[in-house]
Order: sequence, then structure tokens, then C-alpha cells
Amino acid sequence: MSLQGKTAIITGSNSGIGLGIAHEMARAGASVVINSFTDSDEDHALAKSIAEEHGTEVRYIKADMSKPDECRALIEKAGACDILVNNAGIQHVAPIDDFPTEKWDAIIAINLSSAFHTTAAALPKMRAAGWGRIVNIASAHGLTASPYKSAYIAAKHGIVGLTKTAALETAEEPITANAICPGYVLTPLVEAQIPDTMKEYDMDRETVIKEVMLKRQPSKEFATVEQLGGTAVFLCSDAAAQITGTTISVDGGWTAL
Ligand code: NAD
Repeated sequence: MSLQGKTAIITGSNSGIGLGIAHEMARAGASVVINSFTDSDEDHALAKSIAEEHGTEVRYIKADMSKPDECRALIEKAGACDILVNNAGIQHVAPIDDFPTEKWDAIIAINLSSAFHTTAAALPKMRAAGWGRIVNIASAHGLTASPYKSAYIAAKHGIVGLTKTAALETAEEPITANAICPGYVLTPLVEAQIPDTMKEYDMDRETVIKEVMLKRQPSKEFATVEQLGGTAVFLCSDAAAQITGTTISVDGGWTAL
């Protein structure tokens, strides 16, 4: 699978799944833009190291995905945008009646609204190029719910709806829009949930991983960032040209239950 000549922008990609997708896009020969809101020396060094590892161009562009103008500016600054992967995301775990309003707003802005803004800015570029792929990183929580994750689940169900709408609006064009729905992947986002979940259920780390997190993942294994990167690259392949407006679960059977 070659993505040579294509530019792939991956939001929130200095860590976890976004970084895994950046590696797989670069391995497939795409010119890659990685992003975060931090703009640190480490971010620029990361871009350089991915470029060196895969022999392709990799740029770092800072943009805070909680800010509509910065979402749109990211796409403008990148120049071309053949592949857009909306991946940036945060989490907060609390019952609805204790859920801080600013956390609700931040999760909806970063996990959902950012994809609206980047997609709006990317579509004219895809149309001008005559080809485009939108890959939204939703979640098993875009298809099912769990307690204490109201904002995340609302945002992830929302991004599945946005994906379907983008697919219908581009259905007669060589552009597709799909969502990948991962189950649990052991990234910093998931690591950060372990202490609270340990407290919530009064369990040790290993028991939380096995009995709470992977309880609903029948394979009893975390999905990996490489598997998610490979799925994103597949959605950019010719074989996937008629796959649009749908979800692909990479969840060890979670949503089959
Ligand atoms: P992570 O914490 O490792 O990565 C999150 C990324 O988002 C980081 O690169 C971070 O810099 C970026 N980010 C956060 N706020 C940002 C902002 N305001 N502006 C720009 N970038 C920002 O988490 P992850 O697990 O790799 O999650 C990536 C995506 O995958 C998220 O959308 C998440 O909801 C989704 N997801 C993760 C899992 C999982 O089990 N890890 C499961 C399903 C879906």
C-alpha cells in the first residue's frame, strides 16, 4: 500500500494512537503532519525521528484543538490535506451530577467540534485534489455507553454521526469518511484512568485492567496503536474506496457482546 504523494494530517499525534497512526502513514510513504497544542522541543524532535525512521517528510504543526480557529488554521498551514485523521481526544470520568461543566465543554470541543472544523477546512482541499480520506477516531464508546463518561460518550456518538453526514455529503465524489472504533488501547489516556478506576472500584491495578477495562473486551487483550494505524492506512487504500459512512471496530469483540 503506497500513500506516496499524499499528505496526511493527524490531530493529537504526539502520543498514543495518533502517534501510532502517524508512524503507519509515514511507513506507507505519506507526507505526515503531526500535531499537539504543546509546541515543545520534544514535539519537533518526534517529527524528525519519524521522518528519519520512514524516509518521508514529517512536519509538526502546533494547534489547540479546543479552539475552532486553530483547528482551521492547522489545515491551512499544512498546505495539502489528502488524508485527515481526527484523533485528538481527552477523557474525564465522573457521575453526571458531579461532572464539571468545564470538563464537559472541553471534551465536546476537543473530541467532537474539532473534527467539524478540520473537516470543513479540509473538504475544499480534497475536492481541489480530486481525492480525500477522512478517518475519525471514535471509540467503542461511540456505539455503546458506560457509566461516568457522559461527555466522552456523547462526543464519540456525535463523531459517528458527523462521519455519516460527511460521507453522504461527499458520496458522489472520490472522498470517503469513516470512523474507527477502538476498544481499550493502553495509551497515556487509558493509563490516566487507572488510578480513578482503582479508587472507584477499590481494586488494585491488575484487577482494574482485567476485571473492569478488559471485562468488556472479550479477547482480553488491549488493541495496539500499530493495529489502529494499519486500519487507518487500509481506509486510505483503493480497496476501501467504496467504504464510506461506516464504523470499523477494533475492539477485541466488545461490540459483539
Ligand atoms: P493520548 O492521551 O495518548 O493522546 C491524546 C492526543 O491528543 C495527544 O497527542 C494529545 O497531545 C492530543 N491532545 C489533547 N488535547 C489536545 C488539544 N487541545 N489540542 C491538540 N491536541 C490535543 O490518548 P489516546 O488513547 O491515544 O487517544 C487518542 C484518541 O483515541 C482519542 O480520540 C481517544 O478518545 C481515542 N480512543 C482511545 C482509546 C484507548 O483505549 N486509548 C479507545 C478508544 C478511543
